[in-house]
Amino acid sequence: MPASPCSAAPLKPASKPDDFREHLATADDRGHRRWLYPQRPSGRFYTLRQWFSGFLLLVMFSGPFIKINGNPLLLFNLLERKFSILGQIFWPQDFFLFALAMLLFLTGIMIFTAAYGRLWCGWACPQTVMMEMVFRRLEWWLEGHGASQRAFNQPPWTSDKIRRKVIKHTLFFVLSFIVGNTLLSYLIGIESLWQLVTDDPRNHLSSLGAMIGFTLVFYGIFAKFREQACTFICPYGRFQSALLDENTMVVAYDHKRGESRGPWKKGETVTARREAGAGDCIDCHQCVTVCPTGIDIRNGIQMECVNCTACIDACDRVMDKIGRPRGLVRYASLNGIERGEPLRITPRMKGYAAILSILSLIFAVLLFTRSDVETVLLRAPGSLYQTSAEGNIHNLYLMKVINKTSHSVPVNLRLIGREGNLKVMGPPLVVPAGQLVQTSVLVELSPSSLTGHETRLKIEVSSNGKHLATLSTEFMGPRQ
Ligand code: SF4
Ligand code: SF4
Repeated sequence: MPASPCSAAPLKPASKPDDFREHLATADDRGHRRWLYPQRPSGRFYTLRQWFSGFLLLVMFSGPFIKINGNPLLLFNLLERKFSILGQIFWPQDFFLFALAMLLFLTGIMIFTAAYGRLWCGWACPQTVMMEMVFRRLEWWLEGHGASQRAFNQPPWTSDKIRRKVIKHTLFFVLSFIVGNTLLSYLIGIESLWQLVTDDPRNHLSSLGAMIGFTLVFYGIFAKFREQACTFICPYGRFQSALLDENTMVVAYDHKRGESRGPWKKGETVTARREAGAGDCIDCHQCVTVCPTGIDIRNGIQMECVNCTACIDACDRVMDKIGRPRGLVRYASLNGIERGEPLRITPRMKGYAAILSILSLIFAVLLFTRSDVETVLLRAPGSLYQTSAEGNIHNLYLMKVINKTSHSVPVNLRLIGREGNLKVMGPPLVVPAGQLVQTSVLVELSPSSLTGHETRLKIEVSSNGKHLATLSTEFMGPRQ
């Protein structure tokens, strides 16, 4: 079996001692955090990422306000056990559908990762987008980047430094508050969040606690924890070694072209360099200084790499300067670099795709055949039957009606195949959009229509003449 690209062997021996897999790039020899001061990247990929991140941020912050058929775009209300995906409401009764949707999501991730590696991490993960495109840029603006930021953070503390630090952390806190509240609105809905914000906070102490908690967690992540969240907490980075193979597209250093690396001597020609056995890598470390996780891409695929493409841009700039073709660091598969093979769909990817197709089909069938209105009829707890003054028998039931649509639904009930009366207690039964209504139903039958102590009863549920469901239950009567 071929070795995983995340196995201990690097693509090519590095010029430094090969111990980079023995410790984290962000920890020193004693295990203390090594704070990173990445250089600001620039280049075609960074420009593209900026545009794409802008679009994602727009979607993320406007998402809670977007409704489809009157339902939220995305809602994961665990407290009320109500979920909405792309405007489709899922109730606990639809849990199998929700579980299937999650399974589809996971299978999709597997196929995507097997084919494109950690493209998600570098381009679309909210952590990367917020950290690199919002918080990091603010920090660069206030404190400089790379070596100048490192110098800025050295003593002494001046009044200008204190002012900049106060501004930075205030902005970080406000942004974390906005991010935390956005997440909360995906959990409880924008209307509930607005109610929390405008109402007396003493009436919502637990929600207020969640709001403060989210804010502090996000502030901690973006101000302090940073790349450690990807390395230590995110499970996706950890299980990539099981999903990636030699044909997966990753950000990779072309060691065949780059080695052996060595500094570019003034006036040196490419031919002379080649004749001396040197590769295209001039060991300038530009790819390392821009890396937000502090690693050296030339050591091969590493768990910390989030495929952010900053090193591609940095190296392309260097290649432009020395007159060599771009792409010494590029998107490529290991087979592409070793054997010049193009990116291809492997049997494993085909297998995942087949599973995904089957699951998608099942999901679509279940989704489109599920009922818009769900009804449950139960006998009222502790009640048997009652006999009226006219000698008729009464049974009391509890009925729950869930309306999964985005409009209110009037509900009518009718006895099937039996003479008798059916009465919904209270006002006419109308279930508002996306709501659950519980009511009592009284059924009255004459003794002559009973078939014994327990009589099978069928009730038709309809709305505006449209059949919704047929319910079956037992009608209790005296023993005969
Ligand atoms: S930026 Fe390119 S040339 Fe410079 S060290 Fe990195 S891989 Fe080598
Ligand atoms: S190695 Fe390159 S792609 Fe990976 S995290 Fe560092 S800069 Fe980004």
